[in-house]
Amino acid sequence: MITVLKPNVTAEQRDHLIDWLEKQKVQVHISEGSEYTVLGLVGDTAHIDMDLLASLDIVQSVKRVSEPFKKCNRKFHPDDSVIEAGGVKIGGKNNFCVIAGPCSVETREQIIGVAQAVKDSGADILRGGAFKPRTSPYDFQGLHGEGLLLLSEAKKATGLPIITELMDMKDFDLFEDVDIIQVGARNMQNFEMLKALGRTDKTILLKRGLANNLKELLMSAEYIMAGGNNNVILCERGIRTFETHTRNTLDLSCVPVLHQLTHLPVIVDPSHATGHSDLVPSMALAAAACGADGLMVEVHNDPMHALCDGAQSLTPAQFDTLMKQIRKVLEAIKE
Ligand code: PEP
Ligand code: MN
Repeated sequence: MITVLKPNVTAEQRDHLIDWLEKQKVQVHISEGSEYTVLGLVGDTAHIDMDLLASLDIVQSVKRVSEPFKKCNRKFHPDDSVIEAGGVKIGGKNNFCVIAGPCSVETREQIIGVAQAVKDSGADILRGGAFKPRTSPYDFQGLHGEGLLLLSEAKKATGLPIITELMDMKDFDLFEDVDIIQVGARNMQNFEMLKALGRTDKTILLKRGLANNLKELLMSAEYIMAGGNNNVILCERGIRTFETHTRNTLDLSCVPVLHQLTHLPVIVDPSHATGHSDLVPSMALAAAACGADGLMVEVHNDPMHALCDGAQSLTPAQFDTLMKQIRKVLEAIKE
């Protein structure tokens, strides 16, 4: 249920109302918007007398939220959420954020070299997998703890914040220096992990599952937020369809749809979506043009010899060209 307060309501009047609502065993989520204050009520709201609430002179309107996702719902928080991680802002107007780096951390030279190169081209955050969810158990699984240490070294050397995937909560303590924890497509509905991450204050990048619809993605975000962690970024990375020319099918229309449904930032990963480096730039530009809040792009210093996802990785030179084009697109769509 959402309750919109009239403009000019004092903090004392607001707190008094919140106190009354909380005594009726509902959680109150406050969103101070540019024009209105919105109180989002979560829990068993069935016994709240909507007519009585609507009749109060400080209340503008009361509505039930029919969707099952509440805290991530735009109705609860009309303004875009701006999430900060490692000093970088993600979400909201004019905060387009570019995450770049290799699929996997392989060696010190590789990760520090790529980090320096993507930073020089204007990337905001460094990516690199240390725990890799591979389809085959015989493929490179990542350097695990050693990979995380190398990522930390690259962060120290370049000043770029780092994002990397967590596959199991037993490894969580190793992620202290990590600025954003990635929940990969395969773990989007690992509900116990989402609940556990909801009890932390880490920023979470939640990737859409291979065959999940947007409601399911939002319900997974809700799992994290229900635990009290509101630092969630959504990522479209392509979904399974009957098409085989691309690794997945990039559902770009989800960007404006998600922006209608949720206040959370939405970024696009054109690398896993297409699977081919020659397709990545056009889809990256299209993502920027359709209003995505950022991109996650795989970049490798030597794609031919990459231990994972070389075919979809840009070289640093290709990434540099892409960044120049992205700036032009962003300039063209600036309001
Ligand atoms: C990744 O980003 O390294 C990755 C494995 O992505 P996804 O979970 O989208 O497949
Ligand atoms: Mn990859």
